[in-house]
Amino acid sequence: MEIEIATIGGYEEVGRQMTAVRAGDDVVIFDMGLNLSQVLIHDNVETERMHSLDLIDMGAIPDDRIMSDLEGDVKAIVPTHGHLDHIGAISKLAHRYDAPVVATPFTIELTKQQIESEQKFGVENDLVKMEAGETMSIGDSGQIELEFVNVTHSIIDAINPVLHTPEGAVVYGLDKRMDHTPVIGDPIDMERFREIGREGEGVLCYIEDCTNANKKGRTPSESVAREHLRDVLYSMEDYDGGIVATTFSSHIARVKSLVEFADDIGRQPVLLGRSMEKYSGTAERLDFVDFPSDLGMFGHRKSVDRTFKRIMNEGKEDYLPIVTGHQGEPRAMLTRMARGETPYELDDGDKVVFSARVIPEPTNEGQRYQAEKLLGMQGARVYDDIHVSGHLNQEGHYEMLDALQPRNIIPAHQDMKGFSSYVNLCESEGYKMGRDLHVTRNGNLIQLVD
Ligand SMILES: [Zn+2]
Repeated sequence: MEIEIATIGGYEEVGRQMTAVRAGDDVVIFDMGLNLSQVLIHDNVETERMHSLDLIDMGAIPDDRIMSDLEGDVKAIVPTHGHLDHIGAISKLAHRYDAPVVATPFTIELTKQQIESEQKFGVENDLVKMEAGETMSIGDSGQIELEFVNVTHSIIDAINPVLHTPEGAVVYGLDKRMDHTPVIGDPIDMERFREIGREGEGVLCYIEDCTNANKKGRTPSESVAREHLRDVLYSMEDYDGGIVATTFSSHIARVKSLVEFADDIGRQPVLLGRSMEKYSGTAERLDFVDFPSDLGMFGHRKSVDRTFKRIMNEGKEDYLPIVTGHQGEPRAMLTRMARGETPYELDDGDKVVFSARVIPEPTNEGQRYQAEKLLGMQGARVYDDIHVSGHLNQEGHYEMLDALQPRNIIPAHQDMKGFSSYVNLCESEGYKMGRDLHVTRNGNLIQLVD
């Protein structure tokens, strides 16, 4: 059976991930993501109203025109998890394919919300839920199966999809960390990865996210970030002024830890900001997390301001607002607080906890610097970097290669510079560029079996 891989997006950047795998006449697409930094760099761009071709020209969504060179029918669109760089272009591109979107329940729910806010296109693809550990038959040959293997990442309900073909498995390995003690959900299913490496024809191809391939050692578990956060918040127990925390709003495990520790130190947690309300509300509705029944979540400007007024009236020392703005985004809640645009007044000595790391990208770095400066001018004390990455470091990459023993490797989710450390690791394991290690760019086809 012919096996071909189209590397469509995310092979020259972090963002707008999209890869298609053709097995005989059947094609499966993995991820359809957005490159948010290409959108944010322009002021006042509303992507909801924009046409796909304009967004492609901006570099914001994958250029999927190469799909017409693939001789087969798309049978499924499979986003691996709910981060925007993996689902953010579904509302712009999926309607061109007569195929369902297949994903885990949390990812499907976020995709649904994405499609509902779309204003340019009517997206009517079926949304099909499949849990980690489950499989689905693809096409009519009876020879191809899609499997979801549970992985751990900085968002809940993440999987690595595996396409089983008569020529071996194609493992799409984007976005995971090897977490054996995650705060929410099951540990990564390494046992299954090892089985896939040994059973049948083994692994024909492994497509891997190179994000932290330049970092030595192993990525710590989410439970390490949780203990770090506990230590920081417990140290503030006797402080009788304002404490504010911020983190990735899609990082439900981290939000859960913040909510719990706020309560432990005698403060009422409250979630503020549009995306805080969106992600935590969705996770709670789908029973991924059990928040206290009186936990307030407010997204709209008016209800947020009303909450801030209540906090100022009743006393800042009784509350812990958990807000958006960990990267200093100009319109996010923490940045508005720093600029003095909300009723919440920061005083000398008030604490601001960043349970996040600055995404190393010039726009973020500049915005975050500005936000921290503004907070500092109001006398706030900043606690930074209480975080662990959602991506594998070198030893995690090594363990994956050892488990899967893939015959071909395609590095992904980075630019050329980001690929280099992973290429070195693969070459030290006996792979060779141009032979079985395929460093590629957006818009290429790689024929693995002809
Ligand atoms: Zn991700």
